[in-house]
Amino acid sequence: MVKIFVFCFNFLFLQKDTSSVTHKEYLSVINGYKQLLVDIREYKLSPHQAREKFQEMMFIMKEAYPSARYDSAQVQLCFPLMGFDFRAVGGNGSGYIPRGYDLFDQAKKGSHPAHDIFMKDKNQDSRDDRTGDYVPVLSTTDGIVIAIENGWQTGSEYRGGNYIWIYDITNGGLWYYAHQREIYVKTGQIVRAGQKIALVGRTGFNAAMPRSDTHLHMTFLRIDDDGNPFPVNTFGWLKQATTLLDPRIAIDLEPIATARKVEIQKIVKSIPAIKEPKIAFKHIKPITGDEPVKSRRRLR
Ligand SMILES: [Zn+2]
Repeated sequence: MVKIFVFCFNFLFLQKDTSSVTHKEYLSVINGYKQLLVDIREYKLSPHQAREKFQEMMFIMKEAYPSARYDSAQVQLCFPLMGFDFRAVGGNGSGYIPRGYDLFDQAKKGSHPAHDIFMKDKNQDSRDDRTGDYVPVLSTTDGIVIAIENGWQTGSEYRGGNYIWIYDITNGGLWYYAHQREIYVKTGQIVRAGQKIALVGRTGFNAAMPRSDTHLHMTFLRIDDDGNPFPVNTFGWLKQATTLLDPRIAIDLEPIATARKVEIQKIVKSIPAIKEPKIAFKHIKPITGDEPVKSRRRLR
C-alpha cells in the first residue's frame, strides 16, 4: 500500500521536473518551425531531411510538455468558429481525405487531411451574411503558437494563405488553421482553448478564387513517439465541441492550461507579451435549423 502511494507520489510530483529542455532548444522550435515549412515548400530539404528536423522539434515539444497525452477519447475542443457548430463542416465531414498525405513532400498531391468549415458569405467579403461581421477563429485547445504567416498577398501562389500552427499542450500534436483574413497571435504565444486567434478569411491561392466559398481549413496532426505526424479525422471531436458565443468566457472551458505553469513562464520570459487586440464582441446567434451548411465543392 505504502509502495503504491510512494509510486503515485513520485509519478505525480516528480515526473514534471524531469524535463531537460533548455530555453535554447525551445526557441529552436519557436524560431525554426516556420523556416522548416518554407524549406519544404521550396524543396530546399529532401523529405527525409525535413522529417528528421521535424522529429527533432517534436521531441523538444514533447519534452517541454510531458503532460500532453494523445487519447482520442479524451479530446475536448472549442469549436473553431465563434458561434458555429459541426453543421458548418463541409460535406458533413466527408471532406477529410488523409490518403497520400506527406507533410514533408510537397510533390505528393491529392490528399486533404483537413476539414473545411464554412460560413455564409455570398458576396465573398469574408463577413457573415447573417450578422455583417467577420467571424473569429478560436483556438480549439490550449497550446503554443509555433508558426504564423500573416503577410499573404493577393495573387500569391501559396495555398495556405495566412495561417497558424499551434502545438497542443493538452493532447500533444499540431493544429493547422489556414486562409485567415487577420491573425491575432504571434509565434511563441500561449493560447487558451476558446481564445480568439484570427478572423476567417479568403487568403490562399485557391481560397481567394471566386469558385471557393469562405471557410477555415483545419488539420490536426497526432505526433507518435518517434516524432512522426499523422493526420486525424477531427469530425467526431467537432461534433462534441463547445460552441462559444464570446471568447471572453473561454476561461470556463475545460481543459485549461494548468500543467507546468511555472516552466512555461520561465520559458517564455524573453518573448515579448502580446496585447490582446481591442475588439468589441457582439453576441451572435448560432446557426439554427437542421440543415448543415453544404460545401458546394471540395476545397484545398
Ligand atoms: Zn481545405
